[in-house]
Amino acid sequence: MADEVLPTADSLALVLADVRRYLGWHRDVAGDELHAATGEAPGALSAAVSVQVTVEGSSTPPVVVEYAEVPGEAAVPEEAPKLDEVRRALGDCKRCKLCSGRKNLVFGVGHPRAKLVFVGEGPGAEEDNQGIPFVGAAGQLLTKMIAAMGYTREEVYICNVVKCRPPGNRNPEPDEIESCQPFLEAQLNAIRPSVIVALGKFAAQTLLRTDTPITRLRGQWREYVGVPLMPTFHPAYLLRSPGEKKAAWTDLQAVMARFPKPGA
Ligand code: URA
Repeated sequence: MADEVLPTADSLALVLADVRRYLGWHRDVAGDELHAATGEAPGALSAAVSVQVTVEGSSTPPVVVEYAEVPGEAAVPEEAPKLDEVRRALGDCKRCKLCSGRKNLVFGVGHPRAKLVFVGEGPGAEEDNQGIPFVGAAGQLLTKMIAAMGYTREEVYICNVVKCRPPGNRNPEPDEIESCQPFLEAQLNAIRPSVIVALGKFAAQTLLRTDTPITRLRGQWREYVGVPLMPTFHPAYLLRSPGEKKAAWTDLQAVMARFPKPGA
């Protein structure tokens, strides 16, 4: 009789985590009628980084944000620009015409040394109101996608190609993207993530400097200055085309398989 290899507790825990994520995706993102045992929320991580966030030109007083340590993170080299320096350099930006219609500049949110960064297109009305990316309907879907990957919004970093809302939610124009691109690149250089998820055509095409359609880019590993980048569909598109959620989940699973969450 062949020896039976019994799974170890560790491998069972990994399988269980996968099942939880899979069920979470179907329940929260795909909207399927599946009911997963919820299990406990991701364990509280010790607060290790605290950042004072000041929005220039805003009457809002500075807010001190505490971020949990990202397990397995390496020290950021001294010479790397810091995210708050990038924010300061951007200032009360008037480099393109989008400044005239904005309520708030939407810089980015999340862990300043996140391993996983999501890049979207540009703020919508709700993001413009709050000064925070991905807080409207598409943002709620993105939050569920992040949770289905086993992360919280505080553990990842979320930003956009353009930092100011294009009027009427139109697409960002080439000159607007060009004005913002150095700041997006500086953000990514400051964070130095292990992996980037490009959400939709504008993020993928801008970072990869290509005009290949997102339908051809999605699901294929690419590189942004040495950092693995996974293009996938934008959550707003997924809200309009729920049949594509399965493809997006396949893309995110590829990210999770290549970059398992440290300590998960
Ligand atoms: N869509 C985006 O691309 N970014 C946001 O912040 C919100 C919606």
